[in-house]
Amino acid sequence: MKIVRILILLVLFSPFYSSAQKVIKPVLGNNFNNVTARPKLVVGIVVDQMRWGYLYRYANRYGLGGFNRLLNEGFTCENTHIPYVPTVTAAGHTGIYTGSVPAIHGIASNNFIIQATGKSMYCTGDSTVKTVGGSSKAGEMSPANLLSTTITDELKLATNFQSKVIGTALKDRGGILPAGHTANAAYWFDDASGNWISSTYYMNALPTWVNDFNSQKLPEKYIKQDWNTLYPIETYSQSTADDNLYEGKLSGEKAPVFPHYLSKMFKGNFGIIRTSPYGNQLTLDFAKEVLKNEQMGKGSSTDFLTLSFSSTDYVGHKYGVNAIETEDVYLRLDKNLADLFDTLDVTVGKGQYTVFLSADHGAAHNPTFLKDRKIPSGLWPTSSILKDLNLALENEFKQARIVLSFGSYQVSFNNKLIENQ
Ligand SMILES: [Zn+2]
Repeated sequence: MKIVRILILLVLFSPFYSSAQKVIKPVLGNNFNNVTARPKLVVGIVVDQMRWGYLYRYANRYGLGGFNRLLNEGFTCENTHIPYVPTVTAAGHTGIYTGSVPAIHGIASNNFIIQATGKSMYCTGDSTVKTVGGSSKAGEMSPANLLSTTITDELKLATNFQSKVIGTALKDRGGILPAGHTANAAYWFDDASGNWISSTYYMNALPTWVNDFNSQKLPEKYIKQDWNTLYPIETYSQSTADDNLYEGKLSGEKAPVFPHYLSKMFKGNFGIIRTSPYGNQLTLDFAKEVLKNEQMGKGSSTDFLTLSFSSTDYVGHKYGVNAIETEDVYLRLDKNLADLFDTLDVTVGKGQYTVFLSADHGAAHNPTFLKDRKIPSGLWPTSSILKDLNLALENEFKQARIVLSFGSYQVSFNNKLIENQ
């Protein structure tokens, strides 16, 4: 699916920021007028691929404790956009946390070409670090390619590094980039082992509590539950009927329909959990352990948990905007959010923390779905564009393969070849 929309939604609730004018109340009883009260904890939530409209599209079945609590108790920045391309996960998360754009923060896409070498680079790839907590290469990651500071770095600088910052997401890039350069830790999911892992950039061994969490083997338990709809399937009025031509199928499925028998399709790769609501559930389970075991919000300085829910993106890519699967994953995420806020009320204290929620990007409708409904649409044939571009340049300059790659709307030239002409 082609992702074309930029979507940034910001919702905050906090005892200290009482309106959009940012009225900051001084600490009661403090003689120093310039000292302001700060939240004990900030929780930044990114819902991967959440279109802004999902706040309202499924609202009649959201409870009061999730999305609606944010809307009712906080405020929305309805038209807050960071004007960046490409609207993909790495650039989106980095945009939110740096307030900047790829030309400045350096995260030009999920994968991009390093102009000096002409070689492809994964956004958080770092061959100088090792996986911690697993044997796969999934942990050879760090924020080394991030060129600017994040709000989490700035918090660290502002409190002389007494704040604790931890990043968490199934996706490595969703965990690493928001947590910045100075994070205490970032954790992400390893498909090979089903464990939460990290890298030597942050630590040399996983904390005991992470090992304990991993030893519960929750992914296995969730896969065994398979995925059926939360409510009777005929009540999903915001989506196309389940069996349709616009949805992808999980490997081993004959049709893209409920129930999705994850247990039957599981062949040892725990990555299957990503394309189901259990990926978000597992992220929440892990985040609650972070809060508890790392004593987030219990210190003297403001702590920051960055939390990204990745399964909305995997489900969105597989099934599309108008799918029952997508509707279902948001109805369940709403419950996950309510659970998270209830937990924060108890562990940090109601009114003592600030939450914001945003999205790294949105998603477009399936082009065939649009065409079938008489809406002009089509695909952007990137591979033929690269071929045509090189042919046109070859005709002009008598040199083959002047363009190395074309991706994420970026043309990368073979600079060495051009220099040598
Ligand atoms: Zn994303």
